[in-house]
Amino acid sequence: MNLHDAIIIGSGSAGLTAGLYAGRFRMDTLVFERMSPGGQILLSPSIDNYPGFPAGLGTEELISRFKKQAEEVGIDIQSKDVLEVKRSSDGFLVRTSEGDFETKTVIVATGAQPKRLDIKGELRLTGKGVSYCGTCDGPLFKEKDIVVIGGGDRAIEEALFLAAYAKKVTIIHRRDEFRASMILVEKAKANPKIDFFLEGVVEEIYGENKVDAVKVRNVKTGAESQVACQGVFVFVGILPNTDFLKNLLDRDEFGFIITDQEMRTSQAGIFACGDCRKKSLYQVVTACGDGAISADSAYKYIINKK
Ligand code: NAP
Repeated sequence: MNLHDAIIIGSGSAGLTAGLYAGRFRMDTLVFERMSPGGQILLSPSIDNYPGFPAGLGTEELISRFKKQAEEVGIDIQSKDVLEVKRSSDGFLVRTSEGDFETKTVIVATGAQPKRLDIKGELRLTGKGVSYCGTCDGPLFKEKDIVVIGGGDRAIEEALFLAAYAKKVTIIHRRDEFRASMILVEKAKANPKIDFFLEGVVEEIYGENKVDAVKVRNVKTGAESQVACQGVFVFVGILPNTDFLKNLLDRDEFGFIITDQEMRTSQAGIFACGDCRKKSLYQVVTACGDGAISADSAYKYIINKK
């Protein structure tokens, strides 16, 4: 079996940047991706805080540039689902849906996925008014009433995007302060199509075959009310895609991989970068930084072992 220098698992912003750097180090590198390159960033239509693009940039455009740049330095991106990573005599055995591969190092860049609320009606009405992606489903809600749940960057950004289609967007957030950056909150407050329902927790989504309302409880008074809507967009945080590594790597209580500043995990030779690792700022710019560092660390790991 061919022994590669690095196998990068995932091709979002972190994985593609790791690929770019690994390629420039002339490492023999494969990138495995379960679906198509891009990761979570493609759930947003555009990005406003990536340096160098003051007018913002479409996320598909950004990812296709990342991909092109990685491929230009010889990085091979393959569609394969990684099932398991195991130690082997020369490094690691990466078991995939389409065969096994051997590598000296592994860079985990598997990202995260949207968290569910786990409330009554949510699962049953997913795809029937309940959604986790404004970019994908926003155009289906032209002139409709939409509820957006959450108070982070994603919720506010998506509410702004959805307001372009909807008749009205109501942001329901469980506190009266926001985790989202102030610039986004200010924009949402200035948008005449956006209303806020603060200190409210959505407890149930109603509707027979499609969404028609949500039940909200005021966390201070306990009062219950209904908000009529045809769309419910849930943005309450992210869950890392790391379950397949749970017996191999140290993770925090939510499953985020623990690394040091050099992106080293609890297993020598395995590095993690981007949204799958525990850190303080989940952004494209930090995912790229992580990706670059992880490739550099993998390169140094191989050199030092020689
Ligand atoms: P987030 O920042 O973790 O925010 C999650 C929001 O959902 C919080 O407001 C939280 O409320 C609320 N929430 C969590 N569980 C809830 C529940 N069970 N019921 C009701 N509300 C609940 O997550 P995110 O907005 O999905 O973003 C994920 C990461 O990507 C973040 O680090 C974010 O900064 C980053 N991101 C950045 C950008 C950007 O910079 N342009 C865009 C998108 C995402 P509390 O505040 O009360 O905890």
